[in-house]
Amino acid sequence: MTTTSGLSVDIVALKRARRRAGVSVARARARRLSCLALALLATATARAAPPAGASLPLTLEVRMFSAGHADATLLSTSAGHHVLIDAGRGTSRAGDHLVSRRLLPYFRARGIKHLDAFVITHPHWDHVGDPRALARGVQIKRIVVNPDGARWLGRQLRRLAPLVTAVRGQRLRFGPLSFDVLHPPRAGTPWRGNGLTAENNRSLVLRAAFGRHRLLFPGDLMAAGERWMLSRRRARPGRVDVLKLGHHGLLSTTERWLRETRPRFAVASCGDRWNRKQDRLSRRLLRALKRHGVMLLRTDRAGDIIFRSDGARLTLRTVPELVFRPRRRHRRWAKRRRRRPPRSQRWRWCPVPAR
Ligand SMILES: [Zn+2]
Repeated sequence: MTTTSGLSVDIVALKRARRRAGVSVARARARRLSCLALALLATATARAAPPAGASLPLTLEVRMFSAGHADATLLSTSAGHHVLIDAGRGTSRAGDHLVSRRLLPYFRARGIKHLDAFVITHPHWDHVGDPRALARGVQIKRIVVNPDGARWLGRQLRRLAPLVTAVRGQRLRFGPLSFDVLHPPRAGTPWRGNGLTAENNRSLVLRAAFGRHRLLFPGDLMAAGERWMLSRRRARPGRVDVLKLGHHGLLSTTERWLRETRPRFAVASCGDRWNRKQDRLSRRLLRALKRHGVMLLRTDRAGDIIFRSDGARLTLRTVPELVFRPRRRHRRWAKRRRRRPPRSQRWRWCPVPAR
């Protein structure tokens, strides 16, 4: 009401001034209208703006891309922080395919122009992808790697962005989102050399924290790595809400690991290599998850898996249209291993019929 009385007072003053100064009627009317518009705008702004001292609610969105037997997860806060954990895909080295076909178009659609960090959990092609293609499409502020990544890819990666070698005990902070590095330790691990299993067990293990929610990203950590972490007090992950299954759910996630992490959701980023031999192991895993009351989400069935958190509540959405699958021709090729089809024919996005 103060505004209205204030406005009427202003108009009366304006009339007096007009009479005194002899200003034309039309000009005075225009001024009066602009006065009224300003007053209305002020009232509307006062209604829309939050009370002084109050902050807008922050949210976190975690999108786990369906990438076949590979990993790619984007964590975005409503405050504009973006962290990408891995950007690889597939059994071949065509990692740029996921970057150019899925990640960059998604970044463009969402207006994401920078990544605060691009984390590479370990230097395998189903996790590294094509950092050069990524850097061409989006500004990368820093690349976070494990000691293996710094040793083997350091020279190439340093050309794209500043390189950070992460080891246990460090904390990466991006506004309201933080990551604790739980593994590998600075002193090194018992797994030396270039064996695939050894490299998997030296993966970066990050525990993300947002509000009261915790999410664990263990890269390709396998059962031996989990046992080793559980035997060190400072490396134990504790309870989490969302557990990314280590090594795409294969040869990982022991009973003890589940007892330690007690997740509500477990995500397996898996695809074409979920074959019969490995499926036998996964059945054991399925039974364990069921026993612990954990909901399993697989990117080869659920497509992209999206969690949203406001710090207190967690919601989940899946996009089954975006399941990443090998083309039939590539599947046949993978069986025979005779010749390699051109890159454009290897993969496509397939809709999956509802169950
Ligand atoms: Zn992997």
